Amino acid sequence: MESKEQAGNLFVCHECDALQTIKGIEPGNVAACVCCGSTLFKNPVDGVEKPLALIVASMIFFIVANLYPIITLNIAGIERAATLTESALIFLKLGRPELAVTVWFCCVFLPGFIISGLLYVLLSIRYELGLPYTKPVLAWIIRLSPWEMVDVYYLGILVVLVKLVAMADVLLDTGFYAYSILIFVYAAAASLIEPHFLWECLSRQDSKPQ
Ligand SMILES: [Zn+2]
Repeated sequence: MESKEQAGNLFVCHECDALQTIKGIEPGNVAACVCCGSTLFKNPVDGVEKPLALIVASMIFFIVANLYPIITLNIAGIERAATLTESALIFLKLGRPELAVTVWFCCVFLPGFIISGLLYVLLSIRYELGLPYTKPVLAWIIRLSPWEMVDVYYLGILVVLVKLVAMADVLLDTGFYAYSILIFVYAAAASLIEPHFLWECLSRQDSKPQ
């Protein structure tokens, strides 16, 4: 998913900066720049079905990754399992608050916010629920640019592994595998989500008589 400079139906081309108006692209069709021909956005054939299914799966893996330990530490013969949040707390106890913040922000807060936000917006669109604040939520998700988020998720988990392996014997646990799957499932969902299409769906819902 990429952010696109857009105001109403006005679009700015990423390649040549041409400003143009685009309206009513049929499902399965692509809107191309009138000047250079590069793709501005696609209107998916099956609407939000596939992204919604992948985001539901992402949510399940996210919950498992947070509830189950990601690692088991063996410090001087004593075994201790730690979830993502507990790993962040271990860094805090070790006097490394910057690592604690990095891990918690990258692995818990950001994916939690983005996945639940997308789930909220997609459910509202799919079942025409007309839920409140869907547009500000979508605007924030686009602002956080989710493709780069995948790198951020990796960063958080790498910090946990690299730093803790140096201090104790570390065994990977259930949460770690769930988190690894989450990264792939989420990347697949993000690649299918077209922000412009979601905007259009939300605007259509707004203009419907209640
Ligand atoms: Zn162009």
